[in-house]
Amino acid sequence: MKSQYRVVVIGGGVVGASVLYHLAKLGWSDVCLIERDVLTAGSSWHAAGGIHALNADPNIAALQGYTIDLLSEIEAESGQSIGLHMTGGMHLAGTPDRWEWLQSSYRRFQSIGIDDVHLITPEEAGRLSPVLNTEGILGGMWANREGYVDTTGTVHAYAIAAKKRGASVIEHNRVLELQQVPDGWQVVTEKGTIRCEHVVNAAGLWAKQVGRMAGIELPLSPLAHHYLVTETIPEIAALETELPMVVDLEGFTYSRQDQKGMLVGIYELNPKHWMMDGAPWEYGIELLQEEPDRIENELMAAFHRFPALQTAGVKTWVHGAFTFSPDGNPLVGPVRGVPGYWCACAVMAGFLQGGGVGKSLAEWMIHGETEADVFGMDVARYGDYAHNKDYIRQTTGQFYSRRFVMTYPNEQLPAGRPLKMSPAHDAMSAAGARWGESWGLEVPIYFAPEGFVEVPTLKRSNAFDLVAEEVRATRTTVGLLDIAGFSRYKVSGPNAEAWLDRMMACALPRTGRAKLAPMLSESGRLKGDLTLFNWGDGNWWIMGSYYLREWHMRWFRDHIEPGVHLTDISDAMVGFSLSGPNSLKVLEKLTDGPIADLPFMGCGSFDIGLIRARVGRLSVTGELGYEINCSAVEHIALRRALLDAGADLGLREIGFEALGSLRLEKSFGIWSREFTQIYTPGQTGMDRWIAWDKGDFIGRAAATAERDGNGPAQVIATLEIDATDADASGYEPVWQDGRRVGFVTSGGFGHWTGKSLALAMIDRDCAAEGTALSVHVVGAERAARVIAPSPHDPDGVAMRTT
Ligand SMILES: Cc1cc2nc3c(=O)[nH]c(=O)nc-3n(C[C@H](O)[C@H](O)[C@H](O)COP(=O)(O)OP(=O)(O)OC[C@H]3O[C@@H](n4cnc5c(N)ncnc54)[C@H](O)[C@@H]3O)c2cc1C
Repeated sequence: MKSQYRVVVIGGGVVGASVLYHLAKLGWSDVCLIERDVLTAGSSWHAAGGIHALNADPNIAALQGYTIDLLSEIEAESGQSIGLHMTGGMHLAGTPDRWEWLQSSYRRFQSIGIDDVHLITPEEAGRLSPVLNTEGILGGMWANREGYVDTTGTVHAYAIAAKKRGASVIEHNRVLELQQVPDGWQVVTEKGTIRCEHVVNAAGLWAKQVGRMAGIELPLSPLAHHYLVTETIPEIAALETELPMVVDLEGFTYSRQDQKGMLVGIYELNPKHWMMDGAPWEYGIELLQEEPDRIENELMAAFHRFPALQTAGVKTWVHGAFTFSPDGNPLVGPVRGVPGYWCACAVMAGFLQGGGVGKSLAEWMIHGETEADVFGMDVARYGDYAHNKDYIRQTTGQFYSRRFVMTYPNEQLPAGRPLKMSPAHDAMSAAGARWGESWGLEVPIYFAPEGFVEVPTLKRSNAFDLVAEEVRATRTTVGLLDIAGFSRYKVSGPNAEAWLDRMMACALPRTGRAKLAPMLSESGRLKGDLTLFNWGDGNWWIMGSYYLREWHMRWFRDHIEPGVHLTDISDAMVGFSLSGPNSLKVLEKLTDGPIADLPFMGCGSFDIGLIRARVGRLSVTGELGYEINCSAVEHIALRRALLDAGADLGLREIGFEALGSLRLEKSFGIWSREFTQIYTPGQTGMDRWIAWDKGDFIGRAAATAERDGNGPAQVIATLEIDATDADASGYEPVWQDGRRVGFVTSGGFGHWTGKSLALAMIDRDCAAEGTALSVHVVGAERAARVIAPSPHDPDGVAMRTT
């Protein structure tokens, strides 16, 4: 063991070994992995080793696909067998909704290039798995690239391949302490102290403790999990080919062949957390006592699906633990304010996600950013609120128990809620608000009469007419929306203006003005779709998406300069947006100030009722609109004042469902849909806001190269879809004469225009107005065509005039 390395990876499970391999592969060979015991001595040794390319988050699915392709490569490179059985596999549906969901998922996988997937009939399922009872099965989705690996062999293969590229592996050496030093870290281990620039927490079941060594709380918990392996089953022994993997979505089980018997794993509805503060240090290659009673119902379902199990003897019970984050996806990346500390934790399916995690983390450390959009597994998608133990218990338990339960797009899940509530929450509830959740905050999705119950569906829901009414009110009179769910950052100090000028690609707004502000990374890709306010009193505000708070704060902190004071004021400042033709009339009743003189994209301080508010004239609805910001303690009073003033002007409270419809009718993009960290200004139309004639800003060289190049291959276009009972929602494939030309980024019904609309990222040569295309909506192909952007009020007259 040397006393100095560039990187120390803590943990020799599949994830740590993959990180080590990818660091070495990308050129950092002065790296070592430190393992408390022997390689695999956490969750990895007793995993079922199942691999499949499918995941509800298409970006994570793409990384899983990468892992599967990598497995043979590391086997060849290391010379270590990984025992790969690429049997193929199927997901089975036993209810009409589930079957429809599988058909729709099949199309979504096509969107991201997973083409070796197809739908199968129950009869085909029975032929592919002769021990399967297909009773009640309506259909399935088959994937070629499913199978399983030998888990120990796989971890060793990563480690051997890494060592061949110069990396070191040190076993039987626990990391005891982490000390931050000016140029990196001191890693105190049982065998001595190591200096390094970077540490990686890949400590699996012990990730919590290794986080706390650096003062970091990670929102994750181990949960216990069972699978069993049977003795030889004669029907299987008689088969000439190996059984495929089977996920029985209604039965909560996964299964595969294991030698001449079967392996059956269970995601039970009644999950059990294990050692929420991390596994004991002395825990080794051992198992938990099996608890068949706890999983009895799911086992019965498995016995029904595979009758041969009823008489098979159980050879081995495996009851072990592995870690989960609240949404089940990994926690990867750097932690705000702790330079040189990287996470590769909560990897729930290390054998199918470990490759993608290792690749992304190594790119991030070496190149400063990842190739893929990894927001879905970025540790910064959570904030401090998610460190609460009960929040972690509820959300990880919910994920585990719903692992094979389908979630409808209009379904609101209950775990960890309600947590954060804007002050007017209860009053809005009394007025009929129904709530969604964003980064722990309750946000109104629509208002409904007492007793209304929204039915979960993949198609248009019974809330359709309620949302339509809110849209109509906004277009014809005035809609009032709680905008506590926007983020707000205050920037001040002598260097604030110069700093903002470097951070944002737009020209800075003049005093009393707001501006749409694209923020870029050095590589010219998007880092934010923000709005910048120059209040004229030395304070600037940056406003954006609430759920990106930790993500943006990490970026801001990484680039902060002396003389700049930056504060996240999102919980201190809240507000309401008022939009629609009568919005000015409402405000005029509440202020003596020259509110009518406030120009489009103007901002200033006004007395609104009793409140001294900061008001910006802008809207996401495309109507005349105002965002009225107040302190949290004034939220209730502001709402009352606006409701009273708007009572005879047709004011109606609206939710974010209506906002979604209104913004689609204006072709306004939003983050995570039309704008992501892998898209460029040219692709998304964000280049409109770049101030090419100003001085330097982050990403300038790359953005200029894009502008002066041949143009992006794909761009965002607005589509009208011939849909009747369902609308696109995102990631549906877009076709031209049978050729896939892109995918939907957002979709929904434009209640005012009466059109089923979508924004889509499509090949540039298909983006001309009038181009005939088609889109699969909930699995059914629908005719579509490119229409001019902003089907409502294309000239923007409504929002610009008073
Ligand atoms: C029953 C069961 C079935 C599963 N089936 C599958 C499956 O089919 N497919 C799949 O992909 N996944 C499966 N998994 C999940 C899989 O096991 C995990 O996703 C994976 O093992 C996580 O790997 P890891 O490297 O993150 O963590 P771990 O395997 O827990 O490795 C962490 C390592 O860090 C070491 N360590 C911790 N602290 C320190 C320290 N202070 N100093 C030095 N070393 C330290 C530990 O000793 C350990 O070796 C299953 C898990 C279980 C329990």
